[in-house]
Amino acid sequence: MKTREKRKARDAEPFPFFDTIERTELQGYQDVVFIDPNLRDTLFMMHKASNRDAPCLARYTSMTRRRHLGTNLTRDRTKRYIKHQHNVDDIRLRLDNLSHTNSHSISSADFDNYCSVRGEAKQILGPMYEQPIFRKMRWRTSIGKQRDMTFLNNLIRRKFGPQPLLVLGDKSTTRNRRFHAPTQGVGLRYQLHRLGFRVLLLDEYRTSSSCPDCFANINNHCIKRQSPRPWRRKFGEVWVHGLVECDSRPCMAECGDRTKKWNRDLLAVSNFRRIWNAYIHGRERPDDLRPRRHANGENAGDGGGNVQNDNAQNGNTGAMEVVVQNLISM
Ligand SMILES: [Zn+2]
Repeated sequence: MKTREKRKARDAEPFPFFDTIERTELQGYQDVVFIDPNLRDTLFMMHKASNRDAPCLARYTSMTRRRHLGTNLTRDRTKRYIKHQHNVDDIRLRLDNLSHTNSHSISSADFDNYCSVRGEAKQILGPMYEQPIFRKMRWRTSIGKQRDMTFLNNLIRRKFGPQPLLVLGDKSTTRNRRFHAPTQGVGLRYQLHRLGFRVLLLDEYRTSSSCPDCFANINNHCIKRQSPRPWRRKFGEVWVHGLVECDSRPCMAECGDRTKKWNRDLLAVSNFRRIWNAYIHGRERPDDLRPRRHANGENAGDGGGNVQNDNAQNGNTGAMEVVVQNLISM
C-alpha cells in the first residue's frame, strides 16, 4: 500500500496531465509533439503543426532499439554457447521450464511457482551465467542502451526543434495498473525526462477507436494480406494490426466508396491533437473522446476489452525476455 502511494506521488510530480497546467503556459510552446507509446517502448511522434501535405512525423521502433542493444546478437551467441556445453540438454530443459513461469506476476501462486522453478534452475544455469562471455554481453548491452538514448534524443531534437514539449499518452499508468504489476513505458518516460524534455501526460481513453475526420466510432477491423515476412508466407494471410478502417458515410464518400484506412498510431496522435486543441481554445474534450474520469464507474471498463487482449498477447513474449534478463543477472 505504501509503495503504491509512493509510486503515485513519484509519477505525479514530473509527469502531470497536460490539462492540469495553465492554458496560457501551454500556449507559449511552439513545438508540441504528441507521442503514442506502444508496447515495448515503440514511439510514434507527430508535431502539432503536421498535416497531410507537410507531414512532420517520426518513429522510434523496437527494431532500432534491438539493433542498438544487440538483442539478436546476444541471443544467437547465448544459443551457440549453450550448444557447446556438455550438459546442453539439461540447460535447455531448465530454460524451457523457466520460460513457462512469470517473474512479474502479481498472483502469489504464480510467483511462488516462479521462485521454486528458478531455485532449481539456478543450480545448473548459475555457474554457466558466471562465465565472462555473459558479463561481456551485458556490458555491451548497457553501452548500447546509452547509445540508443542518445539516438532518440537526437532524433527528437533534429526533427521537432531544440526544446519541444512532449505530450505522451498515459497507456501504461492506468490501464495496466490492475492486471500487470510493472508498467511498461514508465522507464521510458523517465528516460525522456532525464534527456531534458518536459513530458506531460494525456488520457488516451478512446483515442484509438474514434475517427478524427468524422468522429465516428471505429470498429477495429483489420485488413488481411500476405505476410511481408517471406518465411511466414506459408502460414497464409495474416491480419494487419497496424491498420484500422473507418466505414462511416462521409469518409467512404471521400475515399471513392471504399473504407478509409488509418494507421493506428497516426489515428491516436491525431486524436491527441484534437484533445489538445480543444483544451488550448478553452473547450471541453470532444464528445467522442470523453474521458473515463467523468464517466460513471461502470463505464470505466468498457472499450478496454480488446486492449487487454492485446496486452496479454504481447505480454507473453515480453515475459520471455524478462526471464532471460533475470537469468543473465543471476
Ligand atoms: Zn471517418
